[in-house]
Amino acid sequence: MTNLSFSELGLSEPICRALAAENYTHPTPIQMQSIPLLLEGRDLLGIAQTGTGKTAAFALPILQRLGKPQQRPEPRAAHALILAPTRELVVQIGESFAAYGRHLGLKHAVILGGVGQGQQVKALARGIDILVATPGRLLDLAEQGHVRLNDVKHFVLDEADRMLDMGFIRDVRKIVAMLPKQRQSLLFSATMPKDVARLAADMLREPIRVEVTPQVVTVDRIEQRVFFVDTASKHALLIDLLKDPSLARVIVFTRTKSHANRVSEQLERAGISADAIHGNKSQNARQRALERFRVGEARVLVATDIAARGIDVDGVSHVINFELPNEPESYVHRIGRTARAGKSGIAFSFCDATERGFLRDIERLTKRPLLVEAPRTLTATAPSTKSDSQKPDASLVRRKRQWQRGKSRAA
Ligand code: AMP
Repeated sequence: MTNLSFSELGLSEPICRALAAENYTHPTPIQMQSIPLLLEGRDLLGIAQTGTGKTAAFALPILQRLGKPQQRPEPRAAHALILAPTRELVVQIGESFAAYGRHLGLKHAVILGGVGQGQQVKALARGIDILVATPGRLLDLAEQGHVRLNDVKHFVLDEADRMLDMGFIRDVRKIVAMLPKQRQSLLFSATMPKDVARLAADMLREPIRVEVTPQVVTVDRIEQRVFFVDTASKHALLIDLLKDPSLARVIVFTRTKSHANRVSEQLERAGISADAIHGNKSQNARQRALERFRVGEARVLVATDIAARGIDVDGVSHVINFELPNEPESYVHRIGRTARAGKSGIAFSFCDATERGFLRDIERLTKRPLLVEAPRTLTATAPSTKSDSQKPDASLVRRKRQWQRGKSRAA
């Protein structure tokens, strides 16, 4: 955070009033660096991940520029287009525009797959100021003639590296080809693989480049601990940890959708309110789960990486990696769900014998070894692992010693 105020960045009174209602007192570094230049109409390449305040960094200048008296959008046309890779992120970005622009009277719509298209077609029919969309559904609607993109004046591509991972880059390029040449373009990405750099070069004109909070710095605010544990004891360990009420709002990560379901069911059976969120759930079920988590009806949200991307819930006290991710960058994204907007947080990782390599990759990336937790006597019982969980796990002790020997050799 900085000492400048939002109005000193050039934002108008109705926007500053909306930000005050959100309890945003000062701009974050990315907001401070980008907002004045975006208000001038510059293109931008933003190297930033969620948690830096990047959504407001692009939303506020767009709102201000669209808020000026100008022509209403024509039928089926949009004046600003924001593309994001996941449905959750699209919904969250839409909510941010609604909150920051609440005094401006602009129309916004979200377009995403997994739900019927009727409502979306209706919302577009009379034209829309701000359109937030996933690429697949937008392309569908554009090809059917329900939306036209040749009036777009502001274009944002969010999480471009994730777009690439999820195989959306071709769709994104098709959409970019439908936009007018005269426009303002912004591209955000946490990392800059070759294909994203090429897309940025094709899409942006003399962009300003803003790079904030390198990943290593972000994770520095998070206490990171690892338990060496047998696969079969992970459920018991999770339930044991959750006996501590300071784990008030917890996101548990698994690698697969079926594991997410299983963990959530086992928590429910142990009397711990939990929901799972992943790509096989309907859009409505995912939104319901997020909402229950947000308001505290569910204490635990069990998620896969893609579903969790961009989840923006304040006050997540702990992140638990029930299974370590095979891509170390995902670890950084996962633990970044806690320690949002300048707060600190705690991340626990459960590492079994098959996951040692993943742990090494993570420590290489973050340049920081995880603190090894002492093994626990697991008295909690996960219904399906009762026999394992009732005895202290001798292998935990053995693994910890092996690991520490490995570390001191490495040092
Ligand atoms: P983002 O990086 O856009 O996902 O934002 C991360 C979180 O920071 C969200 O919960 C925002 O509501 C919050 N946020 C963004 N900008 C500010 C600010 N200037 N002051 C306080 N919170 C903010």
